[in-house]
Amino acid sequence: MAQTPEMSSTPAKQLEGVRARIAAAARSAGRDAADVELIAVSKTFEAPGILPVLQAGHLLFGENRVQEAKRKWPALKAQFPDTKLHLVGPLQSNKVKEAVELFDAIHAIDRVKIARAIAAEMTKQAKRLQLFVQVNTGEEPQKAGVSPKEAAAFVAMCRDDLKLDIAGLMCIPPVDEEPAVHFALLAKFADELSLQGLSMGMSDDFETAIEFGATHVRVGSAIFGMRTTA
Ligand SMILES: *Cc1c(COP(=O)(O)O)cnc(C)c1O
Repeated sequence: MAQTPEMSSTPAKQLEGVRARIAAAARSAGRDAADVELIAVSKTFEAPGILPVLQAGHLLFGENRVQEAKRKWPALKAQFPDTKLHLVGPLQSNKVKEAVELFDAIHAIDRVKIARAIAAEMTKQAKRLQLFVQVNTGEEPQKAGVSPKEAAAFVAMCRDDLKLDIAGLMCIPPVDEEPAVHFALLAKFADELSLQGLSMGMSDDFETAIEFGATHVRVGSAIFGMRTTA
């Protein structure tokens, strides 16, 4: 098999490349690159794959499964105590306690039950996490997120009833559609709700997301390489 440039590159070099692309995208959008946080999504990669990125000075990571993160991160965090962890995947009620213990942010809040459990658990642990509401902008039945029609009411419920400080909105555009349309829609919703945070953009589309105002891009394979498992 021919070696692709990606295979010969190291995660640290790829991190540098992604940073440069973020800087360029911010510049051409007339934005400050410092306003775009890069979440290095390390799901499916074990410590040997993650360590070079930590050693390169990157301290913001994303995982999509609570159990996997719990298995991998305590040891890594012991070595790099300033690491921040964001849960980018859906959360189940029975994992809320562990999620609040381990993570600094949750990106996929989309149900009253989960929002309520997070609120209660944050109070119990006296810990505030950064919270994003996921919007299913493509209205895909299999995808997490509140429907666009329900987004405003859901955010209002989180704020007014549960006293949650919602940082922003998150979306994952449908794979076969132009992501710009979805990023524009999410940015419009956030603006209408006076929310600053926009968690949008992955390896294939983070530059477009930055053009539309992303404050948090979630980049996995462009840093760590291709995943062999989901
Ligand atoms: C896996 C994942 C990412 C990163 O995906 P890449 O295409 O590898 O950059 C971003 N967001 C979420 C929610 C993910 O599950």
